[in-house]
Amino acid sequence: MPPDAPSPAPDLAAARDLLRRVWGYDDFRGLQGEVIGTLLAGGDALVLMPTGGGKSLCYQLPALLRPGLGLVVSPLIALMQDQVEALRLLGVRAAFLNSTLEAAEANRIERDVLEGRLDLLYVAPERLLTPRFLGLLERTALGLIAIDEAHCVSQWGHDFRPEYLGLGVLAERFPRVPRIALTATADEVTRREMRDKLRLEGAGSFVASFDRPNLRYVVVDKEDARAQLLRFLRTEHGGDAGIVYRQSRRAVDQTAAWLVEQGISAVPYHAGLDAETRSHHQRRFLREEGVVVVATIAFGMGIDKPDVRFVAHLDVPRSLEGYYQETGRAGRDGLPATAFMTYGLADVISMRRLLASGGAGDEVKRVEQRKLDALLGYCETVACRRQVLLGYFGEAYEGPCGNCDTCTNQVDTWDGTVAAQKALSAVARTGQRYGGGHLVDVLLGKSTPRARERGHDKLPTFGVGSDLDERTWRSVLRQLVATGLLQPDADGYGALRLGAGASAVLRGERDVRLRRDPERVAPRRVKARPSATGLAAADLSGEAAARFEALRAWRATAARAQGVPAYVVFHDATLRAMAELAPADLDALSTVSGVGAAKLARYGAQVLAVVAGGAADEAEDGGEGFLFDPV
Ligand code: ADP
Ligand code: ZN
Repeated sequence: MPPDAPSPAPDLAAARDLLRRVWGYDDFRGLQGEVIGTLLAGGDALVLMPTGGGKSLCYQLPALLRPGLGLVVSPLIALMQDQVEALRLLGVRAAFLNSTLEAAEANRIERDVLEGRLDLLYVAPERLLTPRFLGLLERTALGLIAIDEAHCVSQWGHDFRPEYLGLGVLAERFPRVPRIALTATADEVTRREMRDKLRLEGAGSFVASFDRPNLRYVVVDKEDARAQLLRFLRTEHGGDAGIVYRQSRRAVDQTAAWLVEQGISAVPYHAGLDAETRSHHQRRFLREEGVVVVATIAFGMGIDKPDVRFVAHLDVPRSLEGYYQETGRAGRDGLPATAFMTYGLADVISMRRLLASGGAGDEVKRVEQRKLDALLGYCETVACRRQVLLGYFGEAYEGPCGNCDTCTNQVDTWDGTVAAQKALSAVARTGQRYGGGHLVDVLLGKSTPRARERGHDKLPTFGVGSDLDERTWRSVLRQLVATGLLQPDADGYGALRLGAGASAVLRGERDVRLRRDPERVAPRRVKARPSATGLAAADLSGEAAARFEALRAWRATAARAQGVPAYVVFHDATLRAMAELAPADLDALSTVSGVGAAKLARYGAQVLAVVAGGAADEAEDGGEGFLFDPV
């Protein structure tokens, strides 16, 4: 059918019907329904939703309903294959075209496009923009164009892709085809650029809340980061997949090796490893269950594994933007997940020093200063973390959320004026040349060789801080650096000087309130279970937990047999629901969210056998049946 032949516009009821039949989901989430309605009516849409918000459905579903091909532009080549495999398992006729394909395969797909044998085609921007490919599209009935990761058009962002600037041409070449641009990047500048550069002037704007309610935010005072991580993994995330971020390659290698020694399947990932090792480790993370990747921030973009159960920052992140993006990789499937950070004096010092020593101009420095203050403010807050985080992105959130460490472990403040005076005076009297360790020794009155050598044991400040313990002094110093009352030397080794406002404190003209760091943040309450099943199975009853385990084992076999990641077969949330419901027949199984017609036909019998307590027969393949006839 030519694209502009009159045909009744499919409505939302038809869309909901398809949602149930193909995806097995009950209803739309958030703004999905409105976005889909706009596209079905022939309009354009600009969609901002957080990671895990359900963006893909916004274009996949209307692409199936509208006559013609749904074209998806995506910069993430590594991801296309998984997305296409997942769609095929749903019975959708999907394919991708990128540089990884052999010429013969690419030709075959182009023929499929021309002959209307595809519902969805994923393509990299550089290929899309070739005159040859644009020509091919002009001979094709197009139903919809989706531009994923649309923030890549922004020259100010981290992910700028020059080819994205060329995508505006689609507006001229295909004026009648509805276009949708999607991103998880929220800021106003990016939004404007998307609208301008992608020529989406008339597009409806759909901006979701950027809250991720299933993420629990936890920031703990750093004592021994590795030991704290291990305790966190053992108490809350046994057997879970997750990402541990570290700042340096060396720290990545050491942490990964150490976790392996502790019996955790961990792999390192950073730009210093050769490409083959990197892709092997990424593949293990995606395909195996319960793998922990220890990585620099080089890892993550384009990872859309839905069942990442935790993201841990053992070093402080670069900015709140970075933190939000990195932690956002946890819990895409909507099940509980944790964003964990250890943060201490050394982190604050290195962040402040970095800023002071950077060669940037004044204007840039001011912006960076503001960003750093926001990040430190988040770390040091005694208020609900979610409120602070969303507030930074301009979203008013009525806290407290009840799902962050400051909400579940009420954090007190104390009058730290006298402590601050003691600390600042120790800095002043030792000549503003020493780092945190020595200052704490002086405050506590520890007669170390260095203290004696420098005559610091004779100072009036020597030992004035013996009323507080070492951990508290480190906390005091950390907070003084965080608020700028102490300032690290730009090029020293963590030496601290008095910062602006310090003299007012010393003269007693300014009070200082400090946060009382809790001894330990109580872990998320997870019932003790015999198995190492992680957070996804938390609070399942004994029998249901056993079924969940059995289903997980079956899923691993089925996924291996088909060469796809486990979550492509079924998500954890779907397995959980199956384990709880214990369906006795296909009808009952079909009511589980995430079980659509194609998967029911392919896996239904096997799942029922596993649930009934028997072993499923060899994960045999029911064949690839497509649900849709060519339009
Ligand atoms: P995003 O691209 O915005 O990060 P995805 O499209 O990957 O998010 O969706 C996140 C998860 O939510 C996926 O596991 C998806 O299957 C699921 N999902 C999306 N829409 C719905 C819905 N209406 N009902 C149930 N689950 C949904
Ligand atoms: Zn909270």
